[in-house]
Amino acid sequence: MPVETLQIDTLVIGAGQAGVAMSEHLSRQGVPHLVVERSRIAEAWRTARWDSLVANGPAWHDRFPGLEFEGLDPDAFATKDQVADYFEAYARKFNAPIRTGVEVRGVERNVGRPGFTVETSEGLIEAIHVVVATGPFQRPVVPPIAPDLTSVTQLHSAQYRNPGQLPEGAVLVVGAGSSGVQIADELRRAGKQVYLSVGAHDRPPRAYRNRDFCWWLGVLGEWDAEAVKPGKEHVTIAVSGARGGHTVDFRRLAHEGITLVGLTKSFNGSVVTFEANLAENIARGDENYLALLDAADAYVTRNGLDLPLEPEARHLPPDPQCLTQPVLELDLVAAGVTSVIWATGYSVDYSWLKVDALCANGKPRHQRGVSSEPGLYFVGLPWLSRRGSAFIWGVWHDARHIADHIVKQRIYLAYQDAAQRQAPALGSALRSKTSLTGVR
Ligand SMILES: Cc1cc2nc3c(=O)[nH]c(=O)nc-3n(C[C@H](O)[C@H](O)[C@H](O)COP(=O)(O)OP(=O)(O)OC[C@H]3O[C@@H](n4cnc5c(N)ncnc54)[C@H](O)[C@@H]3O)c2cc1C
Repeated sequence: MPVETLQIDTLVIGAGQAGVAMSEHLSRQGVPHLVVERSRIAEAWRTARWDSLVANGPAWHDRFPGLEFEGLDPDAFATKDQVADYFEAYARKFNAPIRTGVEVRGVERNVGRPGFTVETSEGLIEAIHVVVATGPFQRPVVPPIAPDLTSVTQLHSAQYRNPGQLPEGAVLVVGAGSSGVQIADELRRAGKQVYLSVGAHDRPPRAYRNRDFCWWLGVLGEWDAEAVKPGKEHVTIAVSGARGGHTVDFRRLAHEGITLVGLTKSFNGSVVTFEANLAENIARGDENYLALLDAADAYVTRNGLDLPLEPEARHLPPDPQCLTQPVLELDLVAAGVTSVIWATGYSVDYSWLKVDALCANGKPRHQRGVSSEPGLYFVGLPWLSRRGSAFIWGVWHDARHIADHIVKQRIYLAYQDAAQRQAPALGSALRSKTSLTGVR
């Protein structure tokens, strides 16, 4: 039974970093709005990550322009709870109109009048504009090759919390992006035997010549790249801020005891087969690493910067045996593997979005977050406008663009032609049908 029907100009769904950024820009521009969040502000940072997770970028970088992390060294990596606290503090800072504990269950386009009717757990909301800020990483993806094995505990990285959660025995971690490598490293340090299945990846140096890679990607224009480079569509990025931050170096991980294997291909009962592409994947990761060092050196020279040389960054450790003689097949039972962690990414879930705004693959149809469905917007998605879009520092800029677009649309909707201006009574009657009159 709905407890209220609310009318609002702009409804933002989700109060993660994207929703908070959206609210800040709408507030600045005087757009009446409400943010509804099914759980708490920045809930994903609070409870949907493993216990030891820290931000992948340093505190000076992984933040919004308007607030620094209080009490944190700018070069330190905020813990996941510090990140969640940060967004709560940020929302308080401008008194963001956020209602927590309100879940959106359906969004429908109105017929014969502008805007949308939004069904929530607390009743109906009528909104002229709806901004979907429900996050890029909603539904954990486990590939269909996952075996049906009772002897092995299988979980997605979204469900992983700490090593104590796993049964005794070895672990296969599938996927070596930032989540997979960090989880594999943590499990190895906890004394577990670990197999890490490595696909195509980029692995920038954590820091080079006294500058974090976030700085390098910024000055080199990489965060602003507008499209994935051809051939890089399925390439993940392996970085880590864990234990003060370090370069992800797969050879070092192998020398420390992790067995690297190629891309996980298939399962036949308890026997898993790996692609024979480990060396190639590592070599391409090295190329990416070295290319960034080259670009950084060129930038230093071009700009005459006084940054210390770091030739040792180019010394790669010797190839470990698992690289020269790769394991192509492994019987999980015989190898004592009792857990498989699928660090294989996420997809979105818009089953509640009952408007014609999605492509056949379920992804939004949009230009820089402005949906093909007028009045509807998306923010916080990877590559929404550029490489930085799904990250803390990137979403803030995308949110500003979307707020600007909403402001422009409000001007169009508020426009009165000459006849309306001369007949205010008639004009306002017309506006009540076509614009925001009566909407708070
Ligand atoms: C493991 C991991 C580590 C990451 N580390 C970093 C990092 O170090 N630095 C960085 O910049 N980025 C990082 N990211 C990427 C990104 O910053 C985070 O995923 C971030 O949480 C995305 O913010 P968001 O606001 O877009 O989505 P979310 O944080 O997911 O927020 C969406 C919100 O919407 C709410 N919601 C969803 N559906 C509904 C509904 N129907 N009704 C009401 N509310 C709803 C959810 O409860 C949630 O609070 C990381 C991502 C992952 C997965």
